[in-house]
Amino acid sequence: MKNIKSKKLDTQVAHAGTNPDKTYGSVAPPIYQTSTFKFDSAEEGAKRFSGEDPGYIYTRLGNPTTATLQEAVATLEKGTDALATSSGMAAVSTIYMTFLEVGAHFICSEAVYGPSRVVMEKEFSRFGVEFDFVDTSNIKNVKNTIKPNTKLIFIETPANPTIKLTDIKACADIAHSNGAVLAVDNTFMSPILQNPFDFGADIVMHSMTKSINGHSDVVSGILVFNNQKLLMRTRNVLLNLGGTIDPHQAWLVLRGLRTLSLRVLKAQENAQIIAEFLENHSKVEWVRYPGLPSHPQYELAKKQMHGFGSMISFEVQGGVDGGRTIMNNVELATLAVSLGGYETLIQHPASMTHSAMNKQDKIDAGITDGLVRISIGCEDVQDIQDDLDNCLRKI
Ligand SMILES: *Cc1c(COP(=O)(O)O)cnc(C)c1O
Repeated sequence: MKNIKSKKLDTQVAHAGTNPDKTYGSVAPPIYQTSTFKFDSAEEGAKRFSGEDPGYIYTRLGNPTTATLQEAVATLEKGTDALATSSGMAAVSTIYMTFLEVGAHFICSEAVYGPSRVVMEKEFSRFGVEFDFVDTSNIKNVKNTIKPNTKLIFIETPANPTIKLTDIKACADIAHSNGAVLAVDNTFMSPILQNPFDFGADIVMHSMTKSINGHSDVVSGILVFNNQKLLMRTRNVLLNLGGTIDPHQAWLVLRGLRTLSLRVLKAQENAQIIAEFLENHSKVEWVRYPGLPSHPQYELAKKQMHGFGSMISFEVQGGVDGGRTIMNNVELATLAVSLGGYETLIQHPASMTHSAMNKQDKIDAGITDGLVRISIGCEDVQDIQDDLDNCLRKI
């Protein structure tokens, strides 16, 4: 479709990304399940390698199915280009590898997705990268931590599982006045509910495993750019390190993406109702959801997000036992990590994902004993509410 960028968001979700099939007119893009592409002559091969001929060479370097997905996500995120990756973590480690080196300094939200922190602390530290994990929801912490050698600031907003928000514009200003790059993990919001480029971010990252694919059946990631220099630097690193996506995987994600706004908006509508229900429940101590006026950053949420999403954290009475009671009594919600799928997923960090963590680290990360994290899905909201009410009554 011509001028897709001038169309409304729902139209873009349905149509963004050029179908590479010019031969048969297939409505769905073909899966170019090939590792390599034939050259018609030595001269043509040389032109493809030099970039004079834009044709494909080898799937790790580029593939038509993958290109369709990249173009679609770049359009939705208001960027110019994107690089799809084999997982969200391949996207994260590719930006770390691109913008950090020996003696470079890195600043990151402390309550970031676990492995985004672990890979820095355990692996990149071996290569002499310096880092600070700070509570970026208080912008003073970023200001006080920045150094002349800070090359990359990486934030996740809302953060996991505290649902704290970080001011994207304020971080972009700090990064840019120090010559650093700001990357934003936008997984929780999807391109439908938050567009970090509007606030000066340099790179937007998604785990497409979550909302963009949305069906809990594919692992993948993507990096979106609006700057050719940053794109080309990152592209070289990604293509050589090899964390690229497979064409079949790309095709599945593209299929999931076509219902992205329908799913995200329905789940969000449900989440608002569930958040209000939980806030008024006698067995619930507190609820964190950006769409509740009780959220400490409700004003920032309204400013930088187009909606409040479908992730809710809440503290049940009874600490670890209270959380366990919920986990062992849910019937509709599925006890599983991950988020952003069509189905409601629930987890209890203190007895599950973070059970091995020591008490002080848990407190520092905002993981209290009765904290329950729920990713609201697209089911009938009354059924979700009845399921939670039934569990809460057993506490
Ligand atoms: C899941 C997730 C990731 C990692 O993505 P994978 O696809 O599992 O590698 C990164 N950031 C956030 C916020 C996530 O939820």
